[in-house]
Amino acid sequence: MIPLFERYPLLRERLPYVALGEFPTPIEKLERLGDELGMGSLYLKNDGMSARIYGGNKIRKLEFLLGHARTARATEVLTFGYAGSNHALATAICAEQLGVRTIAMLLPQPNARYVRRNLLMAHRCGSELHAQPNIPALSAATLFQLCRHRAATGRVPEVIAAGGSSARGTVGYVNAGLELERHVAAGELAEPDAIYVAAGSMGTAVGLMIGLRVAGLGTRVVPVRVTDVRFVNARRMVKLFRNTTTLLHSLDPSFPALELSDTDVHIREEFFGDGYAAFTESGVEAMARIRATEALSLEGTYTGKALAALIHDVRTGELQDETVVFWNTYNGRDFSSRIQGIDYHELPRPFHRYFEEPVQALDGGA
Ligand SMILES: *Cc1c(COP(=O)(O)O)cnc(C)c1O
Repeated sequence: MIPLFERYPLLRERLPYVALGEFPTPIEKLERLGDELGMGSLYLKNDGMSARIYGGNKIRKLEFLLGHARTARATEVLTFGYAGSNHALATAICAEQLGVRTIAMLLPQPNARYVRRNLLMAHRCGSELHAQPNIPALSAATLFQLCRHRAATGRVPEVIAAGGSSARGTVGYVNAGLELERHVAAGELAEPDAIYVAAGSMGTAVGLMIGLRVAGLGTRVVPVRVTDVRFVNARRMVKLFRNTTTLLHSLDPSFPALELSDTDVHIREEFFGDGYAAFTESGVEAMARIRATEALSLEGTYTGKALAALIHDVRTGELQDETVVFWNTYNGRDFSSRIQGIDYHELPRPFHRYFEEPVQALDGGA
């Protein structure tokens, strides 16, 4: 049973959930990278392995989001992201397994190789893809699609927040915090001093903060901002923290009504670079380092930037003698065989440019 339900049996009765992944995900010591950096206690919590076909951090959120959609007997879900969205893809893959169709409203982003892969895979999973030039256009088009689908199916599609970071999706990472405590209790690592994690829509970081507090661990979460400051800031983080604990407390009064104040929030801003999905020198260097030492593949939009923050803090001596966890949020499964031979011309026209234009220079440029 998942640790959240073991600890709070009422939540098990009241909170819809569908198992989609393979948990617990591995925890391992990064001996070689740790040696190179002069760190004795560096660990990887590898949510890249969270599911068989496509892992990453969205699976934990979708277990609760699609659990709810299934209880509501939804036949379609609608969600949001950028063109290469890992969230929109994970939703398409998991929803398809439940016989639910995904409609994805997608904003433009800098080009990268993973954008091409993700678009082809989402298409293969039957996702209906809509390219939108900006947020106002996306909002209008979303209303239109909700009406159009209601007219066609008799039901409004279930809306899933961008990045899956509603209170309900964030619960997936409350459970992940409790999962980490099981590793500590089993002696797999000492109680960590810090966890470094990318923050895009904040559900991962906020859920972990709640889960660790409930578990009684004093571990600090270090969120590394990788999207616009409109989406990741202390005020929004406090709000998501409150909404998530309120949801859990309302379903099970024994779940503590925890509080977070803005002064407890320390978001790292210096690794963002020029914008969302614009790879950075430090991010790409961090990716090369963990690939060379640990054979782990990251990407430049989220995890490269988060690892760059960790490496920076090692260099400045901030993590001296600490037990530190790098929480990998990026898919670690190779799905290339599943998209082999798919012609990108099958995608809606506005997505063709990701296949026809070069990728950004720091992603190899081809
Ligand atoms: C979505 C995503 C994140 C960001 O997680 P949030 O919960 O949205 O902050 C981090 N890494 C990867 C690889 C992602 O796809």
